[in-house]
Amino acid sequence: MPFVCPRCKKPIASRHNLTTHLKGSVARGGHSLELSEARRVANNTPRMDDLVQYARAEPTLSRATVKRPSDPYLAFLYDLFTKIVKNRSLPGYEFERRVDTLILEFLPDILESKPMGWGGVEVVMPEFPVRGDEQAQGDKQHDAADALLHRVSPSPAWVIFELKTDMRTALSKDSQDQLERRQRVVQQASSFRTLRETAMRVGTDPKYENLRERLRASVHLVDEPVELLYLTPTTIAPERDRCWNLTFCDLKDLGLKRNGAVWRLFRDIVVGTICQEPRSS
Ligand SMILES: [Zn+2]
Repeated sequence: MPFVCPRCKKPIASRHNLTTHLKGSVARGGHSLELSEARRVANNTPRMDDLVQYARAEPTLSRATVKRPSDPYLAFLYDLFTKIVKNRSLPGYEFERRVDTLILEFLPDILESKPMGWGGVEVVMPEFPVRGDEQAQGDKQHDAADALLHRVSPSPAWVIFELKTDMRTALSKDSQDQLERRQRVVQQASSFRTLRETAMRVGTDPKYENLRERLRASVHLVDEPVELLYLTPTTIAPERDRCWNLTFCDLKDLGLKRNGAVWRLFRDIVVGTICQEPRSS
């Protein structure tokens, strides 16, 4: 079976059947999606053989023209980025955690460029605890979003950020469940106040006090709305009010003014290998 349903992992014979399955009623084993959303999810689901091939492939530099720079600092980064990409094909290598650290440095400038075109973006903190209303009390019950951002324009908002660098995990049931939880949190929170109150309560580890201090120190208003931003290889999230899905494919030709030379290296070595266009058939 060339496809697996991203929602329930059921093997499916064709993209057409996947669309039918996604829009089918829950009673009949489907997911009751609107036709347009079912089509969108089906079109973004890669074929299994592509994913296997992708996992096995020795990562190659996306542009044969990437030369090791003569500047010693840039050369150090070239070596670092190249190793991260090369080690990605090894089991247990947490590629996403490593990319996470680097991408957060570029993220404000990325979001201030097209296609997002936001202004005044700040990474308030990494690993921000969020919790759905339906979840029980207790330290172990919250899970952390990859980062909490704040944006000034086009309208002030707090943005929960999630990063996925591998379509196989992005389309896994765990990941799809997480996406639904995040969307629910965003839809239910009338402002950041609710999320802040939750974050101020969770955790007994002394490190949570540092998190609370950082929240207390933030100059941004807690009454501002909450939005969700996913950065994924290709689209995984249906477009919804206040929910954004930027893709690594959107970034492969992007130039940045700040740290431009470092970004170009990162883009050409790392971003190009994450961007993965699904085949149309
Ligand atoms: Zn399914």
